[in-house]
Amino acid sequence: MIEMKNVYKKYRNGVTAANGIDVKIKQGEFVYIVGPSGAGKSTFIKMMYREEKPTSGTITLNGIDMGSMKNNKVPHIRRNIGVVFQDFKLLPKLNVYENVAFALEVIEEPQKNIKQKVMDTLDLVGLKHKVRMFPDELSGGEQQRVSIARSIVNQPKLVIADEPTGNLDPDTSWEIMNIFDEINTRGTTVLMATHNKEIVNTIKHRVIAIEGGRIVRDEQRGDYGYEI
Ligand code: ADP
Ligand code: ADP
Repeated sequence: MIEMKNVYKKYRNGVTAANGIDVKIKQGEFVYIVGPSGAGKSTFIKMMYREEKPTSGTITLNGIDMGSMKNNKVPHIRRNIGVVFQDFKLLPKLNVYENVAFALEVIEEPQKNIKQKVMDTLDLVGLKHKVRMFPDELSGGEQQRVSIARSIVNQPKLVIADEPTGNLDPDTSWEIMNIFDEINTRGTTVLMATHNKEIVNTIKHRVIAIEGGRIVRDEQRGDYGYEI
């Protein structure tokens, strides 16, 4: 599904955040991306949804070259990728329902399908009873559930999450991780950068460790492997 070949990313300030990355990820995998701060995890992830372009090398998503793709083609590709952030990035003036529906409206989903899809997805993340609430009326965990619902309402083949539990307490983090696990069980590829040692060591999946812009470890059912 995803293949990176000899990928380098050098930012304009001279920092090399990807330093020769080769990796293949199959449809349906769940992959944790671990490593110290500044290792290049976010850069790795951002290149997969073309938030950043590689300086050299190729990144293909289902055979499509993400690096050389024209900017006007990016929105079309992004339809197949859900993205979840540490800080949720919800629209503050829209309620829960509208935040999720918005993801379908921008891709011009027929109006008749929107309500059903939004409600089914909010049901999956356990938030059906809070459709009318606004982001500032929700806990962090609830906001992250909305953000996950928004990322999957379009049934993408790939969900990318950058530290999705970074702002959440341990109990809430487990609840959020269980949702990602459920999404993966339904066949969606999940790629997640995380510092959550407990979770990585308990809900076992493939672990890719990045240090200094290089993959230094890649193990099926791996361990977190760092002290914090
Ligand atoms: P991580 O997610 O593992 O903390 P990042 O990919 O965010 O790592 O960062 C890797 C390196 O690239 C760091 O040295 C960081 O300061 C640098 N970096 C990240 N984004 C940018 C940017 N937009 N411009 C310049 N340097 C950046
Ligand atoms: P029910 O199954 O309870 O009859 P629905 O499944 O149609 O109702 O909707 C569930 C909740 O979502 C209700 O509170 C409904 O008012 C609310 N809702 C539906 N559409 C919207 C919308 N566009 N904006 C805000 N809330 C909505």
